[in-house]
Amino acid sequence: MDGARVYIIGAGPGAPDLITLRGLRALGQADLILHDRLVSTEFLRQTRNGVEIICTTELGQCPTRQNNIHHKMIEAALAGKTVVRLKGGDPGVFGHLQEEIEALQMGDIDYEIVPGISSALGVPLAAEIGLTARGSSRSFAVVTARTADGKTNTNLPKADTLIVLMGASNLPELVEQLSLAGWDSQTPTVIIERGIQPFERRVSATLCEISELAQSAHIRAPAVLVVGKIAKFSSRQRILFTGIDPAPFRHLGQIIHWPAIAVQPLDNTGNISSALRRLAHGQFGWVIITSKVSAELFLREVDKHNLDARIFAGAKLVVSGPGTASVLQENNLRADIVPEAEGSEGILQTFCQQQDGSGTVLLVQGANAPGTLSSGLSELGLTINRLSLHTVHAHPDLGSPLPEHDILYFSSPSGVKAFWNAYGITGFQRPIWCIGEVTCEQLRRIGIAAKVVSPYVSKKANAQASLL
Ligand code: SAH
Repeated sequence: MDGARVYIIGAGPGAPDLITLRGLRALGQADLILHDRLVSTEFLRQTRNGVEIICTTELGQCPTRQNNIHHKMIEAALAGKTVVRLKGGDPGVFGHLQEEIEALQMGDIDYEIVPGISSALGVPLAAEIGLTARGSSRSFAVVTARTADGKTNTNLPKADTLIVLMGASNLPELVEQLSLAGWDSQTPTVIIERGIQPFERRVSATLCEISELAQSAHIRAPAVLVVGKIAKFSSRQRILFTGIDPAPFRHLGQIIHWPAIAVQPLDNTGNISSALRRLAHGQFGWVIITSKVSAELFLREVDKHNLDARIFAGAKLVVSGPGTASVLQENNLRADIVPEAEGSEGILQTFCQQQDGSGTVLLVQGANAPGTLSSGLSELGLTINRLSLHTVHAHPDLGSPLPEHDILYFSSPSGVKAFWNAYGITGFQRPIWCIGEVTCEQLRRIGIAAKVVSPYVSKKANAQASLL
């Protein structure tokens, strides 16, 4: 069939922005996405309208599941669909790649393989553990903890550093095998659960102590075990980041993503269509977008409605800060106004300074944002049409024991509220940083002092701001 093919893509080790560009482009072509359970559902939400998405766990239990995957891929490709088989990490590392290729060849289906970053490499590195180091690690080996029939792997290769996948559930047996293979009981060892994903947890110990510590910390799959001299965590400050997207914050320290809130898109079809129609007809003088999530969802709606950037031609674009501006920029849209102060306060100040404060505003804002911006703008004489494409709620996994950290970071008032409800004052035992004044104020209300550290300004500017 013309153009129909199967892409076997490595999705990377956890975060949705660790897929390759080639993988992302292929994902954009998909009519059907068949993804493994470990793949982040974040970027699946961003796929084109009408794409069929199936998690392979829906296709039965092992071993029939694998056959069902083959069948589904071939059936869809023969029907002329572009199929993406999306696998965690790299497709060639413990990923049934060989079976799937053979099945596609038997079915005479065209296919393309797109490499990904394996969790074996990416998960340790994100914890600042490079797998080679001059003098202490000249080689590394990646090994599975289990054989195909579920037994502990007894064939452990010799290397300076060993990375073990699928080892969380048989750790004691694995450690025993390592000792038998000659590994010193005092060898540094780390285990990282859900690496580069929300609620990642890390345990470090000597080889002989790791099982016990991992067990008492309830470490479960998916986890990567690293054994060898280099298996030590760095002393860089650990920041427990409670916001939705840690990407702009990673340079501030070691980020442990502990999202306090989760986004829930709202089904708001009628309102969206009417807002887009009015925008296309030049009925809004201003479009104000108050968060990255709002920007992403709004742009997706523009696309879904078969519209493009020209829809903004008659309006001025105002965003709440540099993060939201960057989402627009990725879509080749430049915000006309990016206020210096964080959030609604900055936007209001901007409008207060405007000569011409009149006009009709499309305000794209989360459903649980306070009404202050809307009422403030109305008082200035503007007509406000509010459009909410999402709401946020406390993350369902919030409340599990907090990992060790040096700094606690908040990027929104709703994050502060959710975190406070889950942990109370006992959650606030470390210095607190936050993104700006509005979040700082929310912390003040519960009696917590915080320092404003913006990821968008230089270290020097942050230091000066904290002196004021
Ligand atoms: N093809 C995948 C590996 C599949 S086997 C890759 O290249 O990464 C599945 C195993 O990978 C899990 O049992 C676990 O050991 C490891 N794994 C995958 N994602 C992980 C993550 N985010 N954190 C820790 N371990 C992970």
